[in-house]
Amino acid sequence: MKNDCIFCAIAAGEIPSCKIWEDDVAVAYLDINPCSPGHTLVVPREHVRGLLDADDALLAAIVPRVRKVAAHLKEKLPCDGFNILQNNGACAGQSVFHLHFHIVPRKDGGPGGLSFASSPASPAALQELAARLKMD
Ligand code: 5GP
Ligand code: ZN
Repeated sequence: MKNDCIFCAIAAGEIPSCKIWEDDVAVAYLDINPCSPGHTLVVPREHVRGLLDADDALLAAIVPRVRKVAAHLKEKLPCDGFNILQNNGACAGQSVFHLHFHIVPRKDGGPGGLSFASSPASPAALQELAARLKMD
């Protein structure tokens, strides 16, 4: 647990939250600033800053829990689909530096998707970049 971390404090029950599920690995609670009704955060109890700081065991444990909570929301809410969002770094929109996964429920006919500015790239530029980024 990190002293000045709000999500550690919520996981420890020191700060109130609208918790919908918890176990020994993770806690799920409603986001106080929701993108849609039922917007939920799934947060590991272990304090790690972001995805690159989590070890494989933690990630292997957390992903099925995100799915479990998402399936529950889909069953209980008017919810036809959902976005999973996980921000890393302030430049990517991370504001709480304790790993967490957003589940944003969506409804058919409602506002959907998350808006990221994008524009088509040329095939040549994509091929050049892929060559540079190819992993061993
Ligand atoms: P991030 O921007 O880091 O990906 O997401 C952090 C999220 O945590 C935001 O959507 C924000 O609304 C939410 N949040 C921040 N403080 C609290 C809090 O004290 N309680 C709850 N339930 N959510 C919080
Ligand atoms: Zn923390």
